[in-house]
Amino acid sequence: MTAVSLRSETVDLLQRLIRIDTVNPPGNETAAAELLREYLEASGVECELYARVPERANLVARIRGTGDGPRLALLSHTDTVLADPAEWQLDPWSGELRDDEVWGRGALDMKGQVAASAVAIASLAREGFRPNGDLIFVAAADEEVGAGFGMHWLCDEHPEAARAEYAINEGGGDRVVFGDQAYYFCSTTEKMSAPFRLRVLGRSGHASMPGIADNALVKAATLIVRLGELRPEPRLEPEVAAFLHLLTGVAVFLPALIALNLLLEYHGRSRTAPRN
Ligand SMILES: [Zn+2]
Repeated sequence: MTAVSLRSETVDLLQRLIRIDTVNPPGNETAAAELLREYLEASGVECELYARVPERANLVARIRGTGDGPRLALLSHTDTVLADPAEWQLDPWSGELRDDEVWGRGALDMKGQVAASAVAIASLAREGFRPNGDLIFVAAADEEVGAGFGMHWLCDEHPEAARAEYAINEGGGDRVVFGDQAYYFCSTTEKMSAPFRLRVLGRSGHASMPGIADNALVKAATLIVRLGELRPEPRLEPEVAAFLHLLTGVAVFLPALIALNLLLEYHGRSRTAPRN
């Protein structure tokens, strides 16, 4: 099978996935899961649908391993965020191919990857590929809202169906071309929030004795300003340094990076400055 026909197979599957409205809520991902099952079973890939409610199925497809090697899961989701057709140049559920690009809600997040992963496992099955450990493809429901119908539920209720030593998912990074070289980013850490509680004590006053008040809000304001002004010391993490080294061919040092960042920020600001 040539790369060109795999590409058109992926485009065709992506178009058909986009034409199924899986805006979450309500999701209705079963229609997408059934389309994928029909497509995959035609290539001999075994599939199973797991659903907490009939209209919100998760699909798990698998090429069984011949040994007990590590399992690799290609993870994806079939639901999308909403789309207001008034804000679109094309019908968001048209799946139209225009100028070599497929248009539609979910084309990027993430039916494109759903289609690519499905075609990958289907074409491997057709070629008779037998891995040592299972190759698994999961097209889960309910990623965008996370109301308990998707991956979380699947792991809780059917852990054996989803269990894998390795997984490839969206969000790690894009395919980026520098010069004439394509790079595939991967995520080495996950950004987290740091919620915390500020407890500031004071004493209330009285209209007749305002002088006795010790206003906690005023003290909190100072603390919040200090938090807002906090600028942590920049650090060059080893993964970033290695990536930049790979990209530029030279070792990169933090002061030079900070200077470059400031320059880009300045450049970005001057380019996006409002004009009248
Ligand atoms: Zn996504």
